Amino acid sequence: MPELPEVETIARGLAPELEGRTITEVQVRERRLRVPLARDFAARLRGRRLGRMTRTGKYLLTPLDDGRLWLVHLGMTGRLTLGGAHRLPLVHDHVAMTLDDGRLLVYNDPRRFGRLDVVRPADVARIVGPGVDALDPSLDGAWLFARSRARRTSVKALLMDQRQVAGLGNIYVNELLFRAGVRPRRRAERLSRADCERAIAAMRAVLDEAISRGGSSISDYRDGFDRAGSFQDDHAVYDRAGAPCRRCATPIRTFVVVGRSTFYCPVCQV
Ligand code: ZN
Repeated sequence: MPELPEVETIARGLAPELEGRTITEVQVRERRLRVPLARDFAARLRGRRLGRMTRTGKYLLTPLDDGRLWLVHLGMTGRLTLGGAHRLPLVHDHVAMTLDDGRLLVYNDPRRFGRLDVVRPADVARIVGPGVDALDPSLDGAWLFARSRARRTSVKALLMDQRQVAGLGNIYVNELLFRAGVRPRRRAERLSRADCERAIAAMRAVLDEAISRGGSSISDYRDGFDRAGSFQDDHAVYDRAGAPCRRCATPIRTFVVVGRSTFYCPVCQV
């Protein structure tokens, strides 16, 4: 599932290509996404000029010249790919937008957990939710310490909760907790102030490095130009069960909670 670094990579790549371009045609082949595509989705985009695409949490937001915003969430397997007009429709190409320079912007999503919509600015907060973006400067150790008090949930569950911190998912929470030296199952309320400071510093470092590597391509993530990221080569724990810890050589352990794999080093993380 694309997380903050992958969505940020797409936004940074596509923003300068799309800004100022006009959408001349919208083809909808499949409306049954997680939130079904609105009946007038194509009509709301056709003829609109695009502003600069940005990311908030795991959402992509692009202002339109009528004051509304084009909103995209990639769900589990969504891809937004900008390419030449010659692209032949692939299976799971649900929406294809033609730009005024002839290029095609295609939304492909095998599992259809994504969301595409055209919304008013006033609707964005409700859709995106109350979580603080993981790269928001206001999110610091003091914030995490305050949010984690009286929480019996695990630190991993707290950080993955989009209503708390927006943008993190399974890969980057596993990675940041390794760097912070904190076990994923530790109860949030047991975090010390110093643990919280280390966790936030580790989060920033992991996200910045991952963005600079174009994100992680574990299964099917690609950026807006169909290129894979390479941060998966730098993962310390994620998807490395049984492999030696890069710091102490102890085999990385894994367990599964409600379908999500958790990875940690039993020596480096307490
Ligand atoms: Zn270790």
